[in-house]
Amino acid sequence: MKIGFIGLGNMGGPMAANLAKAGHQVVGFDMADVAIDGVAMVASGAEAAVGAEVVITMLPNGQILRAVADQLIPAMADGAALVDCSTVDVDSARAVADQAIKGGLLFVDAPVSGGVGGAAGGSLTFMAGGSAEAFAKAEPLFDVMGQKAVHCGEAGAGQSAKICNNMILGVTMIATCEAFALADKLGLDRQKMYDVVSTSSGYSWTMNAYCPAPGVGPQSPADNDYQPGFAAELMLKDLRLSQQAAESADADTPMGQLAQALYAQFVDDENGNGMDFSAMLPRFEKRTRT
Ligand code: NAD
Repeated sequence: MKIGFIGLGNMGGPMAANLAKAGHQVVGFDMADVAIDGVAMVASGAEAAVGAEVVITMLPNGQILRAVADQLIPAMADGAALVDCSTVDVDSARAVADQAIKGGLLFVDAPVSGGVGGAAGGSLTFMAGGSAEAFAKAEPLFDVMGQKAVHCGEAGAGQSAKICNNMILGVTMIATCEAFALADKLGLDRQKMYDVVSTSSGYSWTMNAYCPAPGVGPQSPADNDYQPGFAAELMLKDLRLSQQAAESADADTPMGQLAQALYAQFVDDENGNGMDFSAMLPRFEKRTRT
């Protein structure tokens, strides 16, 4: 398949390389000067879009996606599919979907989980929104770049699923970290805390699979000085998107709101930038109730 790929950064670069490795003809564009194995770089997004059956975008945010889509959509062939894998706000995903469909194209919003390791290893999970026809067109490419693709519903449903999942993740990580810090102050051994909680009703992915306490549970960023992993500032980005969506949909999300405020404080004022999001535990360790 002839594929245009726009945004070849930490995630997009290895995703495009995997498509090329699988035998697809990949033409790429990035604002930065990048070189990706097997990908023919061109001078603009529009140039990468001409004649492509599918154009994939992997960009920093919704504003940039909207600007790039303005260039891509008029250049794309009738019936081609625009597949946005970036994590963006639901409103931008829906606006670009409308614009693409009006331009005679198919559209899928397909944010991912799995991080840079998943992008390099071709083991991402895609959460997709769009028509059945659009999803069917993109699915063989999801199979190359990932291990699982869930068709969540109409346009915007992929972004909705992603931010709801990550809102749970942020809230749960904070709850797990504050419980460990409380357990410390109560004189409870961390290993015992893990042994009980990981097999009791407080269990969660953050406790069982990504334990924020070093030396406890399976290997996690806590065992590597809290190097990411999933960086605190990326968690903050997703929490902000969840609260933007909650505002837009008039949903009451007090825990998500508090998680956003705590991660903002951690990233902006407490040197959390560049740390894994589980570094909330050493943050709580240092604090008192007042
Ligand atoms: P990145 O900053 O490494 O890559 C973004 C790329 O887009 C850069 O190479 C940049 O030069 C390019 N770009 C920016 N504006 C452009 C424009 N107008 N035209 C063409 N190229 C442009 O970011 P990333 O880590 O690859 O993340 C990309 C997306 O994936 C984000 O939406 C992010 O939230 C999401 N995501 C990232 C991770 C992760 O672990 N890094 C995990 C899941 C989802």
